Amino acid sequence: DSAIIDSALVGEGKPFRDIFAKGKVRDVYLLDSSALLFIATDRISAYDVILSNGIPQKGSLLTSLSAFWFAYLSRQIPGLKTHLISIGLPPSVRDQLEANRAEQLSQRSMVVRKLEMFPLESIVRGYITGSAWKEYQTSGTVHGISIRPGMKESERFDQAIWTPSTKAEVGDKDENISPAQAAALVGKGYAAKIEKLSLQLYETAHAYALERGIIIADTKFEFAKDENGEVVVADEVLTPDSSRFWPLDKYEPGRSQESYDKQYLRDWLTKSGLKGKDGVNMPEEIVEGTRRRYEDVSRLLT
Ligand code: ATP
Ligand code: MG
Repeated sequence: DSAIIDSALVGEGKPFRDIFAKGKVRDVYLLDSSALLFIATDRISAYDVILSNGIPQKGSLLTSLSAFWFAYLSRQIPGLKTHLISIGLPPSVRDQLEANRAEQLSQRSMVVRKLEMFPLESIVRGYITGSAWKEYQTSGTVHGISIRPGMKESERFDQAIWTPSTKAEVGDKDENISPAQAAALVGKGYAAKIEKLSLQLYETAHAYALERGIIIADTKFEFAKDENGEVVVADEVLTPDSSRFWPLDKYEPGRSQESYDKQYLRDWLTKSGLKGKDGVNMPEEIVEGTRRRYEDVSRLLT
């Protein structure tokens, strides 16, 4: 878990003096002025709060699935720029660790270009669910965009839509914004590029997953700007932390769907009255149910 990872890497005689950044899921270390070491821990968050226990193997599942998508999408979309440099621990770090520990961390590690992030969560929705379904029911819109009347819950949109949100500081909630507000945040030119690329990435992945019996209902990308001002796909891509995955054979509009992602955990938190509370410990059954879903979808996709 995360505590093991921190103590393995930081301190006297260890590879790093300090951690560079600690996200809800990833621990980030500075390798040099242009590269970061990203370690996906087994931490899980829901409703913007980190649960107090983790999901065994989640870090390695997220890493291998992201790595798979970076490679697949780069083959499918010529000229695509991603932040990924390499998978696994760099030798300079590996050499300073005991063999078992190095192996455990390597499965969770990616070396990425250190870049300036756009302050946006670039969400693409192909199907109407979650907060989009809620908004549509009250106002007929999704992130302020008018949507045709008469849609059923979980129905596919005529066209996938780009529905960005802000990237809140730790502890705050991300806020849904309109494409016009996104343009005001990052500039018109960049917003247009990010929208186009997000839709292209989503459509490419959606088509691939459908052939393997999985609907990618929606997903979130993060983008960065490189030295030349080019838009680069950063963070993780198309994992159960950042996407809704539904089994195609059970898909039926007009209700909520079974899913291979965090929805299972969110439903349990809501049902137990623990939604948004700090320090929640998941019972074994929820840990195992979540772990199995992450593992199943990784296997089906790769
Ligand atoms: P936050 O709320 O800060 O986004 P998070 O809890 O989602 O955090 P994690 O996903 O655990 O964070 O950690 C990854 C962090 O690294 C995120 O803040 C993400 O925006 C940032 N990041 C991703 N790719 C890069 C990159 N290439 N260069 C710099 N920062 C990056
Ligand atoms: Mg994140």
